Amino acid sequence: MASMIFTDTSSSSTSRLLTLTRFCNGVVSRRRYIGPLHVAPLKPNLPPTLCLSCRPSSRFITAAMATEPSAKVIDGKEVAKQIREEISAEVSKLKDAIGVVPGLAVILVGDRKDSATYVRNKKKACESVGITSFEVHLPEDASEQEVLKYISDFNDDPSVHGILVQLPLPSHMNEQTILNAVTIEKDVDGFHPLNIGRLAMRGRDPLFVPCTPKGCIELLHRYGVEIKGKRAVVIGRSNIVGMPAALLLQREDATVSIVHSRTKNPEEITRQADIIISAVGQPNMVRGSWIKPGAVIIDVGINPVEDASSPRGYRLVGDVCFEEACKIAAAVTPVPGGVGPMTIAMLLSNTLSSAKRAHNFQ
Ligand code: NAP
Repeated sequence: MASMIFTDTSSSSTSRLLTLTRFCNGVVSRRRYIGPLHVAPLKPNLPPTLCLSCRPSSRFITAAMATEPSAKVIDGKEVAKQIREEISAEVSKLKDAIGVVPGLAVILVGDRKDSATYVRNKKKACESVGITSFEVHLPEDASEQEVLKYISDFNDDPSVHGILVQLPLPSHMNEQTILNAVTIEKDVDGFHPLNIGRLAMRGRDPLFVPCTPKGCIELLHRYGVEIKGKRAVVIGRSNIVGMPAALLLQREDATVSIVHSRTKNPEEITRQADIIISAVGQPNMVRGSWIKPGAVIIDVGINPVEDASSPRGYRLVGDVCFEEACKIAAAVTPVPGGVGPMTIAMLLSNTLSSAKRAHNFQ
C-alpha cells in the first residue's frame, strides 16, 4: 500500500494531525489529516484506474476508483475543538453579562462501562467550556419512579438548562415514558417527540436537534459542502441518528433516500448519492462500489473489530470501508475522529442555546 499524501489547495489550512490508519484489508499506513474549515466546495480528483488492494464487492466494478487516495479527510476532532472554543467564549459572555452559567444534568442508570465512559466524557467536555454539570448515577435495579423523580426535579431547577438521560436504560424501564418526562425546553438530546415532530414539519422549528445528526450536518457546513439540490442517502433509520439525519438533510433541500435493513439493492441506491450519511453499526459495510465518484461521506458507525495487535485487543472502524472510500469519494470522515467528537460538541451547543433562550439572551 502506497503511503497517502494529501494536498489541500482549497484553503490556507495546514496539516494538523498525523496518525496511523488501518484499512479494511488490515494494512496499516500513516495518514496525514487535513483540517480545513470553511473550505471551497470539494472537487474530486480521481484517476480512472482500478483499486488494486481490495476485492470488488460486487459486479459493479468501480472503474473510477483510484490507486491512490484522493479524498479529503473531514477532521471532526479539529472542528469539534473549534466549536468548543466558540462555546467557551459564549459561556463567558453569558456569565459576564447576566451572571448565568449554563447547566447540564446527566442521569445514568446501571453499570454499563460504555455508558459510564460517555457520561464521564460529557462531564469533562462541560468543564472544559465552563458549563456546570450535575450527575445522578442510579443502580441498575433503580425504579422508573426514581428516574422520573430526578427528571421532575431537574425540570424545575432553574440552574439546569439541559437534561440528558444516558441510553440505553435497563430493560425494566420504559424509555418512551422517561424521555417524554423531560420538559421540551430542556430536551438537549432532542429526542422528545415534540422536538422530532417539529423537525419533521415544514414551517416548524424544533427547540433542539439530536446531537449526532446535528454534528453530521455541521461538518458538511463547515467543510463548505453544498446540500441544497443534492441527492443524499442516509443508511440507517434509528430514532437517534438515521431518521433525524434524513429530516435535517431534507430541511436543507436535499433529495433524500433512506436505506435500511429491508432495502433491496442498497448498493445501487447508495451509489446515486452525492452525500452519504451512514449510521448502521456494521463494520465496513459500505464498500467502494457503493460510492459515487466525488461523493461526500459522513460515517457515524462505531464498530469494534478484533485486533490482536492493539493493546485493547480491538480497534474501532466505521460502517464505511475507509481505505476504499478514500480512493473514490471527495471527502470522508474517519472513525474515530470524525462524527464522535462532534456529538459532544453539539450537546454543549444545545445546552448553551437552552440557557440563552431561558434568559432571552441573544
Ligand atoms: P441502531 O438503532 O441499531 O440502528 C441501525 C440502523 O441500521 C437501523 O435502522 C437498521 O435498519 C439499519 N441496518 C442494520 N443493518 C443494516 C444493513 N445490513 N443494511 C442496511 N441497513 C441496516 O443504531 P444507531 O443507534 O442508529 O447507531 C448506528 C451506528 O452509529 C452504531 O455503530 C453506533 O455505535 C453509531 N453511533 C455513533 C454515534 C457517534 O457519536 N459517533 C452516536 C450514535 C450512534 P432497520 O431499521 O431496518 O432495523
